[in-house]
Amino acid sequence: MNNKTNYEYLLSDLSILKGVGKKTKNLLKKKNINTLFDLLWRLPKSSIDRSLSSKLKDLKIGDTQTVTVIPRKYNFPRVRKLPNRVSCIDDTGEIDCIFFNSYEGYIKKILPLGKEITISGKIGYFRNKYQITNPKYISENSALIKKVHNKYSLTDGVSEKIYNKILNQIISNLPNFSEWHSENIMSKFQNISWNSSIKELHKTENIGNYKSNFYQRLAFDEIFSTFLVNSEIRKKIKKVKKKNKQINIKKQNSIIENLNFSLTIDQKKSLNEINKDLGSSNKMFRLLQGDVGSGKTIVSLLAALNTINSGFQVAFMAPTEILARQHFNLAKKIFTHNLNLELISGKSEYKKKKEILLKLATNKIDIIFGTHAIFQKKVIFKKLGLIIIDEQHKFGVSQRKKLSDKGGIDCDVLLMTATPIPRTLTMTIYGDMDISIIREKPKNRKPIKTYSKLEAKIDDVLKYINKEIKLGNQIFWVCPLIEESKKLDHTSAVKKFEFLKKKFPNQVSLLHGKTNLEEKNLILNNFLKNKFKILVSTTIIEVGIDFPNANVIVIENANKFGLSQLHQLRGRVGRGDKDSTCILMFKSNLSENAKKRIKILKASNDGFLISEEDMKLRGFGDILGFKQSGIKNFKLADPIHNNDLFLLAEKEMRRIEKANEDIGKFKPLIKLYDRADIINDIV
Ligand code: ADP
Ligand code: MG
Repeated sequence: MNNKTNYEYLLSDLSILKGVGKKTKNLLKKKNINTLFDLLWRLPKSSIDRSLSSKLKDLKIGDTQTVTVIPRKYNFPRVRKLPNRVSCIDDTGEIDCIFFNSYEGYIKKILPLGKEITISGKIGYFRNKYQITNPKYISENSALIKKVHNKYSLTDGVSEKIYNKILNQIISNLPNFSEWHSENIMSKFQNISWNSSIKELHKTENIGNYKSNFYQRLAFDEIFSTFLVNSEIRKKIKKVKKKNKQINIKKQNSIIENLNFSLTIDQKKSLNEINKDLGSSNKMFRLLQGDVGSGKTIVSLLAALNTINSGFQVAFMAPTEILARQHFNLAKKIFTHNLNLELISGKSEYKKKKEILLKLATNKIDIIFGTHAIFQKKVIFKKLGLIIIDEQHKFGVSQRKKLSDKGGIDCDVLLMTATPIPRTLTMTIYGDMDISIIREKPKNRKPIKTYSKLEAKIDDVLKYINKEIKLGNQIFWVCPLIEESKKLDHTSAVKKFEFLKKKFPNQVSLLHGKTNLEEKNLILNNFLKNKFKILVSTTIIEVGIDFPNANVIVIENANKFGLSQLHQLRGRVGRGDKDSTCILMFKSNLSENAKKRIKILKASNDGFLISEEDMKLRGFGDILGFKQSGIKNFKLADPIHNNDLFLLAEKEMRRIEKANEDIGKFKPLIKLYDRADIINDIV
């Protein structure tokens, strides 16, 4: 292992192994296998037993068998297409080895006349004689062949033999690490070491043995390393000393008193947590997590107020302009005293933009609202004290970390998301932040009634809509795709728009991915002003827009959406105090799975619970598009089946945090398992 440390050896390039040339290396690279460590997670799928050898007289045609024979005669025909042949014997009979496309020199080398050679392969029978065609397992050393050979799902061009050869080299040279886990944790896995666990993992008889101690230990390693890295990032950000903000409770309360509702307990609790962070001399890096419509915006605006009171500025970023404008309008409404609020929009004139930039640079703006444009290089703040970011659950850990660096030392960071995730995943996905959760919905919310309807019964739906429109209400009609695609059999928004327009003249508008930004803003604003009644769209309308007058949502082809997504779509209605309805439409009779999903949606309006169910039905990775966010996929661990390991890892991590334990001993673990890009400056 030269001078490399144990983990460095495992992170070496595959080419240090015997039998890995450029070709094999490149083939494996295509599968994202670059290091020895990467290869360890390709598990055997099955095995083939080549350990028992037979005498030639006992061979079974069609079986894979191992024989030890003596090559007696070469037959190399000079005619192309005819194979080369080596006739071999043992003391009971005769067998031919047949080679297509192998050179004479090579054949002579692997099957020298008169020497005892062990061969394994599938036994054929041709012209009254046994034969093995293109045998891959040939050796003078019978021990190399007479054993159980693992089968892997192979990368094209890498043979099973080569695969086993390189893997065996790694496994027989596995470094021994000093144990990184505490005694308590180790006792849960019967003290099996990492090294032994890997060895067990690759034993054929252990295929699929998910409950075994070695499997669980390795899954735990993986989960724990992720949590640990996240925890270190969090600690590191919090260590940054900042100038603390002065919380003016009186001022805050005067705003709260003027609202036409009272804050929920969870809103108050979250606000207190945020205020505590703002008032401390450590940098805040906090996530405010709460279901659609749970009222995060008001909480964040009150945090903004407290920041401004200390002479700082606030940047409030939303994913789209319309959402930024909505927040801006709300702020103007609730902050009746003299605050300087501005909205920077793509439409703002050059002169206006320049003026805003100048004002920001001289601290003449208290809160600036906008899209990511407010973080462009040319935007300079005089005294930025808080960054609020709405609906950015798809930001990955590295993106968030960059963000926290951006605002400078005195700048706190508050992220908001309306994407509840299963409890087990919280540490995996958001473990680098402190988290405040709003679980409770405002009291005036009525549950959204959810129904399912076959498309054939669309007339019932139209009748219902007609009635709602007469009452002055508005309707969302969601279709999965932009244009009709025969292959995908999706309902087309365009077609539906044409259809509904005939039924409800001058009452329908259409929004889809190809609608340009200006038009989109115009349509949404008109919908907000109740200028038309039905908005047909694909799923592009972002979570978060408040249309209090819309109380019906029709979702076509509901089968195409996951549970969490349906719940989020549904959350576009039911924000005011009206009765609201969600109609899920289906093309054909419901499958058992679909029935199960609808039952869950009908029974619950709790995004957290629904996300748990969604994960159970669809598996991790697929839910809510977290894949795009750089959330890594686990190699062995599975949030559904290893729920207990996730909880155990969290508990252990909290213990280590609390005891302020040195994490130096975890260095190999973190280096091996984790994302070098974000951990370089941690261990
Ligand atoms: P989200 O958490 O999805 O961002 P919003 O902040 O947009 O939710 O709030 C949704 C709606 O609920 C807004 O119209 C807001 O004014 C209202 N709201 C917020 N808090 C309460 C509350 N405690 N009681 C009643 N309505 C509330
Ligand atoms: Mg929101």
